[in-house]
Amino acid sequence: MPKCAFFFWLAIKNRLLTKDKMRLFEMQVDPRCVLCNGGLESSHHLFSNCPFFAALRAESPVQFNADWDLCRTGAFFIGNTSRIKKRIGGLFIAVAIYHTWKERNFRIHNVGKHNSPSRVLLRVKEMVRERLFSCNSFKRMAANHPGIIPLLY
Ligand SMILES: [Zn+2]
Repeated sequence: MPKCAFFFWLAIKNRLLTKDKMRLFEMQVDPRCVLCNGGLESSHHLFSNCPFFAALRAESPVQFNADWDLCRTGAFFIGNTSRIKKRIGGLFIAVAIYHTWKERNFRIHNVGKHNSPSRVLLRVKEMVRERLFSCNSFKRMAANHPGIIPLLY
């Protein structure tokens, strides 16, 4: 999914135009995170400390690191993870980042409106399933790991 891969890449490279960066450019913005109103918005906050993203991460089919700085080094997964789980987990992270950034922008441009983390999570899981189930190589891998499908729901 090119749009998710693109935002994932921006996040990994710390290139998302978060409010901490906007303030460095002397843009007048409220520094608070619109997803939780409890922290100062930065990539590190969004993907390590923000309760909104933590709610998505907690429902990931594959356990991944809560420390965004570790994730940025490529250490996404906790413990030994099989190839198929890495594939699912990598896709989940990319889609979760995309939807977190999309929700962040939605809230900034539609003051007073929001989607709950559980609603966004449904979209994330739906998008992950659509992508995986349209991929023949995943179907072949899943045939050898029947326990993997329930993780996607
Ligand atoms: Zn936050």
